[in-house]
Amino acid sequence: MKQLKETKSTCPYCGVGCGVIIESSGDQITGVRGDPDYPANFGRLCTKGAMLHLTASAAITQQSRLLHPMQRLTRGQQPKRIGWDAALDTAAEKFAKIIQTHGPDAVGFYISGQLLTEDYYVFNKLAKGLIGTNNIDSNSRLCMSSAVTGYKQTLGSDAPPACYDDVNHAGTIFIVGANPAYAHPVLFRRIEAARQARPDLKIVLCDPRRTDTAEIADLFLPIQPGTDVMLFNGMLHVMLWEGWLDTAYMAAHTKGFDTLKATLRDYTPDVVAQTCGISKEDLLQAARLFAGINADDPTQGTRAPTLSLYCQGLNQSSSGTAKNAALINLHLATGQMGKRGAGPFSLTGQPNAMGGREVGGMANLLSSHRDLNNPAHRAEVAALWGLPSVPSKPGKTAVEMFQAAADGEIKALWIACTNPAQSMPDQATVRRALQRAEFVVVQEAFASTATCAFADLLLPATTWGEKEGTVTNSERRISRVRAAVAPPGETRHDWQIVVDFAQRLQANTLFPYTSPESIWNEHRESTRGRDLDITGMSYALLEHTPQQWPLPEGATQGKARLYEDGLFPTPDGRARFVNTVYQPVAEPREARYPFSLSTGRLRDQWHGMSRTGTLGRLFGHVREPALQMHPQDMARRLLSEGDLVHVTSKRGSILVPVQASAELGLSQVFMAMHWGEEFLSGISTTGQRLAGVNALTTSAFCPDSKQPEFKHAAVKVLKA
Ligand code: SF4
Repeated sequence: MKQLKETKSTCPYCGVGCGVIIESSGDQITGVRGDPDYPANFGRLCTKGAMLHLTASAAITQQSRLLHPMQRLTRGQQPKRIGWDAALDTAAEKFAKIIQTHGPDAVGFYISGQLLTEDYYVFNKLAKGLIGTNNIDSNSRLCMSSAVTGYKQTLGSDAPPACYDDVNHAGTIFIVGANPAYAHPVLFRRIEAARQARPDLKIVLCDPRRTDTAEIADLFLPIQPGTDVMLFNGMLHVMLWEGWLDTAYMAAHTKGFDTLKATLRDYTPDVVAQTCGISKEDLLQAARLFAGINADDPTQGTRAPTLSLYCQGLNQSSSGTAKNAALINLHLATGQMGKRGAGPFSLTGQPNAMGGREVGGMANLLSSHRDLNNPAHRAEVAALWGLPSVPSKPGKTAVEMFQAAADGEIKALWIACTNPAQSMPDQATVRRALQRAEFVVVQEAFASTATCAFADLLLPATTWGEKEGTVTNSERRISRVRAAVAPPGETRHDWQIVVDFAQRLQANTLFPYTSPESIWNEHRESTRGRDLDITGMSYALLEHTPQQWPLPEGATQGKARLYEDGLFPTPDGRARFVNTVYQPVAEPREARYPFSLSTGRLRDQWHGMSRTGTLGRLFGHVREPALQMHPQDMARRLLSEGDLVHVTSKRGSILVPVQASAELGLSQVFMAMHWGEEFLSGISTTGQRLAGVNALTTSAFCPDSKQPEFKHAAVKVLKA
């Protein structure tokens, strides 16, 4: 009889980062339950997390796992199985030839917020250290890059200052552009529990959609899509006039308010209410609750702490950085920072978007929160890696990388643990890029993703339950991910694949690693003296308790909250107000495209469904794709529930059933992002076959963060 084993690990889905206990027998994962000792979830799991063991075994039995290296000798043909040596030799030969002929910037690496920190670290070192290109970006660009630039512009560092425990101490929780009831369910349970324990806790939700999160909101602000900066500036205008600013905090710890103050004059309640589509009374109420002012006597009492929780509604926007900065302006102006129950708290969509940022695994970042455009930082990284220099030319960010491949500038792409042929905006351009690239490597655990169909070489990777490393959740907490079973088939760990490729590409001493721990130890050393210093952590310490950074050598525990001393990681120690100006969405509605399309998550599905789509039970909540539309808009167009409609943007068109939803405002439509080509076919304006809602979305992006605007595209809807 096989022995039953229990392994502590972390859920691979969202940034809540719940601790799990994996039950296994031999090479089978047989069960999963929440870890009662883990501080992010205390034993709770959501539906997706609780079914991880079933999706793990279903992927094997349904043969959706990629188990052997495969090569496609002719595009459009079925790939054929080859050995690892042949696969890696081919990859090295093709990349070396392209680099030799066209230079290092002719290759690009597109990686993932689902990789472990150790995987991320070696990919980054491969591109920037060995090859000499900054063309490495991640699907975290689609998820968190506006939060990064927002934090850096205001607070001086990419460091979320709050933690989950703040939910238990907040007087007001201000949720904006997030639907934690679906996207961060265990955090939402914590909010519900806090409300139950403290009925006077106030919850404000700002979102164009009346999502399930609105059920617990005391105040719901159904703002027009993309008007967040208008709202936040309007709230600050009100606070200024009502005398609700914390002038003592501002004087002691901030700078730059005078410039912003001049801008705020234009954001009168009338203008804001009209632009955002809310009442002036609700605007006043939101400002008062955010400022933490006593409703009965605004001149009396201490301020109640306000915690803001935000996600893709702010980030996935052509003005994503301004939205983040305008929200943080509110915190700085009211002193809602660095104290229990207060602070701006960005929720990461993916399990390790934070870890990727920490190791600098993006086109504009370097290890340990160093900046590519800072010569001193480049010199520090070069010294850490034992190199004369690292490249200074900015790399291509996600949208730019695929555009460059579509234009023929990037000739080889290496894609790991992500599915851009479904998840990137403007699918027509992305697919053109994948077709035009001379050589495409896809390093994946699943053979079923849309991107696999474009690969010249498929490299099978291990996944959750099979691999070791670390991840960092939204509250800066680093936890261990552990292997419960042996790698299936010929799969290899992501870090191992990178190291094996690097050794073939060019003989070098840069990749001496024998385990994920040896990689992590090198990363740890790179954090010494930085804001995210983890030199006091070790794998052994994390074995027992996940820890929040910073935790420098000599410290006994990490920091729950940042900036409690009012000192910020800026040259003068002061936080900055950013002069945020409202800009409308990049592609406004117009007569020919009269609807605002937004995309988002379902409760029980994950990304492109490669994992969750293997399990029938996870379709119990939502069975099939649908375009949600307000009932009055449907009536005006003589549409009935379930009618097939063509949804068309300037880039493509999809055919989908329509569904009435009173969650939406008039002239707004919504579609979940998860449905791929097996569920939802589409076509580009040039007749190219496309799939999923990203046939329609725009690649317009924020000029500062380069994060694309998934939350708004102008579309028309016609009965099929
Ligand atoms: Fe996993 Fe997120 Fe659900 Fe927790 S809330 S179990 S991390 S998907």
